[in-house]
Amino acid sequence: MKLYSTLSRTVEPLVTLHPDRVALFVCGPTVYDYSHLGHARTYVVFDVLAKYLRWNGKEVFYLQNITDVDDKIINRAKEEGVSQSELARKFETEYLRDMKSLGIDAVSYYARATTHIPEIIDQVRRLVDKGVAYVTDTGVYFNLDTFDRNGELSGQERAKRKSRVSDSSKHNALDFALWKLGEFGEYTWDSPWGRGRPGWHIEDTAISEKYFGQQYDMHGGGLDLIFPHHEAEIAQMESLEGKHPMVRYWLHTGFLTVKGEKMSKSLGNFITIRDALKTWNKDVLRYSILLSHYRSPLQATDEGFANAAKGLEHIRAIATKDKGADAEGRKAFTDAMETDLNTPMAIAAIQRLAGNGDLEALREYGEILGINFLRESSAPLSVLEDIRAELRAKKQFEVSDLIRDRMAAAGIHITDKRL
Ligand SMILES: [Zn+2]
Repeated sequence: MKLYSTLSRTVEPLVTLHPDRVALFVCGPTVYDYSHLGHARTYVVFDVLAKYLRWNGKEVFYLQNITDVDDKIINRAKEEGVSQSELARKFETEYLRDMKSLGIDAVSYYARATTHIPEIIDQVRRLVDKGVAYVTDTGVYFNLDTFDRNGELSGQERAKRKSRVSDSSKHNALDFALWKLGEFGEYTWDSPWGRGRPGWHIEDTAISEKYFGQQYDMHGGGLDLIFPHHEAEIAQMESLEGKHPMVRYWLHTGFLTVKGEKMSKSLGNFITIRDALKTWNKDVLRYSILLSHYRSPLQATDEGFANAAKGLEHIRAIATKDKGADAEGRKAFTDAMETDLNTPMAIAAIQRLAGNGDLEALREYGEILGINFLRESSAPLSVLEDIRAELRAKKQFEVSDLIRDRMAAAGIHITDKRL
């Protein structure tokens, strides 16, 4: 398989540290609100990558962190009058529910920041001992002047970067916090430097070091995380024992856009996953996402989703008679997946396989993409029709209509069965 790495800026053959194993880390959510379609895109892509690698015989350890200590959580908890842990647990549960609704189930382990505080403190301590971090009265900061490879991932000269709002106690405006000193309510811990809480970037490297060590195969996330988040991760991890590169394959998903702008909480132009699922089912959402290459921008429009629904329905309509294996179609699918996870080409191969009646391939590849390309068996449908008939007989029309409407929204039209 070949993958594009943001670090080398080229499509490279995939060579993992261990020939049969893949260690994949993907930045997880900050659990202070519902996830939107922009998040769905990133997590669908890495779900498909992990499933494809496993189908190909690799043992994939897919690790994701849960950022459950953060300014946004502190502020939101205050607004809602709940504790930080209550808010974080609530939105962690909602996140996992959304992932399940989207058929995203390839993650091996979710690691919360708050359950890795000893590992975080230990990593900060080692960075201070190395002399690459310094302590002030507001916190512990990473000294970027000590790290020569800073800027390697984003390809930007540090000098050209806009300096972020500076904390007066920092030596350099771009130095970032490893540990913030202060009382932050519930999520405040003792440390060798005083009470406080971790910075954002250190959480990822403390967690990935615990499960993968200082070097591993792949790190994924949205394009907007390259700077400063992923640059900071590299500086932290590579400063420990100097192992380089921390990760060889840095994989970044393109933006999901709405009218040309990135979908984001801050712009207010987002559609939550659960709202989208009221209109489109998970197969349509995944199909829409995978119709674009993961590194390209993807426009979210109703028209786009409607076209995807039609395209998917067409595949199901033509894939009815099993005509045996289509070797060329199968090769086209795997070639596409091997070429930097080219899912639009893989879907073109699916269309061909549907036309040629290779139902076994459609079933198998459907599991990799998390999309059902074959018509559902009529059994569950008739069960629902029976239940609706029963409800109507008991004059529970509201529930009966609700089932009909929800099924219609999912693209399945059921008729009233006569009693
Ligand atoms: Zn992260």
